[in-house]
Amino acid sequence: MSSAARKIRLLMLLRRNGVGSTDVLRAMELIPRELFVPPTFHDQAYEDTALPIGHGQTISQPMVVGLMTQALNLSDRLKVLEIGTGSGYQAAVLAKIARRVYTVERHRPLLAEAEARFQALRLHNITARHGDGMRGWPQAAPFERILVTAGGAMDPPPDLMDQLAVGGVMVIPLGPDRRSLHVVRLRKTETGVEREQLWPVRFVPLLPEVPAEAGPGVEQGAVPTPALIPPDFSEVIHQRA
Ligand code: SAH
Repeated sequence: MSSAARKIRLLMLLRRNGVGSTDVLRAMELIPRELFVPPTFHDQAYEDTALPIGHGQTISQPMVVGLMTQALNLSDRLKVLEIGTGSGYQAAVLAKIARRVYTVERHRPLLAEAEARFQALRLHNITARHGDGMRGWPQAAPFERILVTAGGAMDPPPDLMDQLAVGGVMVIPLGPDRRSLHVVRLRKTETGVEREQLWPVRFVPLLPEVPAEAGPGVEQGAVPTPALIPPDFSEVIHQRA
């Protein structure tokens, strides 16, 4: 099967399973996921599965990207902050729908690779930065939307909540531990925060600080790799609230 045919098959799968937004489907059609995965996984780029991208991290399962992007309810007038750039795929999808995307990654080499992809695809409305995303991006705040693509705590990092605009929406995996996370949608109002639990999901952890590592472009072969955590598709779909 050609890569174009595999891509169409994936988009149809997403649509059948709840990604009804034409903006989201169009964005995922426009962004070539194979450019965001290592060459050895090119043949799996349009399978509905998370894939390793090095440094113990993964590019999210397309179903999770589709549902989380849709949960943000984006428009071309909104400014989005993403935490956990990883491969850059999710940021690229956001950039096709939102006005401007800010994204933060704590692994310098991953950030450098993602930035090269944004350049190659001429995604000029993405600004990426190395740092601890739990601190957000105060200089560019407030954000109408915040998407966190790593998880592990019961509550969102306070700095991110502060940097969310009133009326804004944050989508973030929350839970007591990494193995029992839910994607949660938080809406900031004049008086507080509304919380809506969406569906169970598995994610790599949101970690504080930045790791000590070599500069951009330096390959690190022997980084201890936490097990790849492909979010379980049936779990994501069938247990949706
Ligand atoms: N959005 C990515 C996949 C996320 S993997 C994609 O589309 O490919 C989660 C990423 O979050 C990893 O790259 C990890 O290094 C990063 N991360 C974890 N904790 C972080 C933090 N505190 N600040 C910034 N990035 C973080």
